[in-house]
Amino acid sequence: MKNIRNFCIIAHIDHGKSTLADRLLEFTGTITDREKKDQLLDSMDLERERGITIKSHAIQMDYTHNGEQYILNLIDTPGHVDFSYEVSRSIAACEGALLIVDAAQSIQAQTISNLYLALENDLEIIPILNKVDLPSANPEEVTDDIVDLLGCAPEDVIHASGKTGFGVENILEAIIARIPAPKGDPDAPLQALIFDSVYNSYRGIETYFRVFNGEIKKGQRIKFIATNKEYIADEVGTLKLEQVVKKSVKTGDVGYLVTGIKTAKEVKVGDTITDAANPTKESIVGFENVKPMVFAGIYPVDTEDYEELRYSMEKLQLNDASLVFVPESSAALGFGFRCGFLGMLHMEIIQERLEREFNMTVITTVPNVSYHAYTKKNPNEILLLNNPTDLPDPSRLDRVEEPFIKASIITKSDFVGQVMSLCIEKRGEITNQTYLTTERVELTFDMPLAEIVFDFYDRLKTVSKGYASFDYSPIGMRESKLVRVDLLLNGTPVDALSALLHADNAYSIGKRIVEKLKELLPRQQFDIPIQAAIGAKIIARETTKALRKDVTAKCYGGDISRKRKLLEKQKKGKKRMRQVGNVEIPQEAFMAVLKLN
Ligand code: GDP
Ligand code: MG
Repeated sequence: MKNIRNFCIIAHIDHGKSTLADRLLEFTGTITDREKKDQLLDSMDLERERGITIKSHAIQMDYTHNGEQYILNLIDTPGHVDFSYEVSRSIAACEGALLIVDAAQSIQAQTISNLYLALENDLEIIPILNKVDLPSANPEEVTDDIVDLLGCAPEDVIHASGKTGFGVENILEAIIARIPAPKGDPDAPLQALIFDSVYNSYRGIETYFRVFNGEIKKGQRIKFIATNKEYIADEVGTLKLEQVVKKSVKTGDVGYLVTGIKTAKEVKVGDTITDAANPTKESIVGFENVKPMVFAGIYPVDTEDYEELRYSMEKLQLNDASLVFVPESSAALGFGFRCGFLGMLHMEIIQERLEREFNMTVITTVPNVSYHAYTKKNPNEILLLNNPTDLPDPSRLDRVEEPFIKASIITKSDFVGQVMSLCIEKRGEITNQTYLTTERVELTFDMPLAEIVFDFYDRLKTVSKGYASFDYSPIGMRESKLVRVDLLLNGTPVDALSALLHADNAYSIGKRIVEKLKELLPRQQFDIPIQAAIGAKIIARETTKALRKDVTAKCYGGDISRKRKLLEKQKKGKKRMRQVGNVEIPQEAFMAVLKLN
């Protein structure tokens, strides 16, 4: 146990976490040149392409120092705010963290939010100034920033480059010297923390855990405390590049477990594994059921693909327990599903996986957050709304609450004005302003989560010329004056386009949605009136004009059977387009609210 070190790497996105992890694996001989692929830990195709780590993984390295053998467990953490609960559990499985800061970018919002998570879990922090090879690196200044942030000595900051491999040995030495060995009682009842799970179509779910007390043995009868279910540990082992089967995994170590569990839902990140016959008295603190934050409808482009879509979503849920869905029907779109996601990135990932892995073509409707509504009749009973169309009629409505977040933004002082205006436009209230250095400011706002869903991030990048970074955490529900804005195309309401908006902005946003839809709807052979309404009242109107006569004429000229064949072919190519009444609506139109000019 005294020669084990468990650590994670935390960093703002793109500061070089994956690259540095690869260098550590190479230096310790955990991967050979033949196995070397850039950013090895990002195993899912999608992750590799997007350059982000979606699911956390763990890998064990052997390292000899002063003639002694050490086991170093690197626990990788996802780098996006959508997955912050998983990050917190991975951090809880460690005794130390490498805090990577880009020598050109300095400290950013996720550097700080991840650091706080690490400090809350009492981790030893090893600061690393990365990318020192960059011509734009600013080592002295950024070291000062790190020293200010951590209250450490400048000598504690290790200079490194994931690109050239510079500093990697110093990092390994620091891991051994500065990070404490795990504590724990090998003779106590088993107590292990689940920090991740991975779906394998042959073996079922593989559970990743860290043992805090006792040991977990092959063949042992074990229990998951939060779900209160028992299993047999069919196989246990440690994680190298390949899994290494073991008879047992002992106190302080990190490993995997196979029990024949088939669905990800049974394995909850943050849950405690114990011995069924001799259970631990305490579960490991910090367990939470992760809740979806963003909801949207997912509909098949072809109505007859509904069952296939259900099958695909069920399959996806097997390996992504954070995806939730229930059937819903829309007057405009027919049968589909209302899905809950951890955030906008998670939503995009699910849509992409449906298309790539299951060959489904789907329409995703305007995302929304989850609201609490109270009726006059039952002012104390919460009505949970995951879909704007479920909002009770205003005459019956007592009040509505929406989720708020604490947003933390770090920006250059030059852009404070612009960032503030944006946040105020987004209904934010400033709660704090701290100068981290003379040039960098941290601004804290209370803000509705719904405003983050609606193009906040892109706008922030624009107003700050790319210099602002952003992170947030939920702070509960607050009452808001919300109204439902409905959209009518050719006189017919399209429920899938409805959105809940704050009463003060509803008119101006309604108008902008209508203008955007006019841009996005393809012209057809007739005029298409586009209207926004609150209740029975029309608040904005535009018209997509009919195609000119001669264009239509051309369509019908020439070889008709060839034209028809072409049309059939286009249909097969399955455009992301839905026919509602006689109006064709492309996927972009469903997202119009998010992309207002
Ligand atoms: P992550 O998002 O923190 O995992 O960052 P990555 O490891 O994916 O790196 C982000 C980008 O920075 C990639 O284009 C890397 O090639 C580049 N990068 C990473 N480390 C270094 C470094 O030490 N020097 C330079 N010049 N580039 C680096
Ligand atoms: Mg990465």
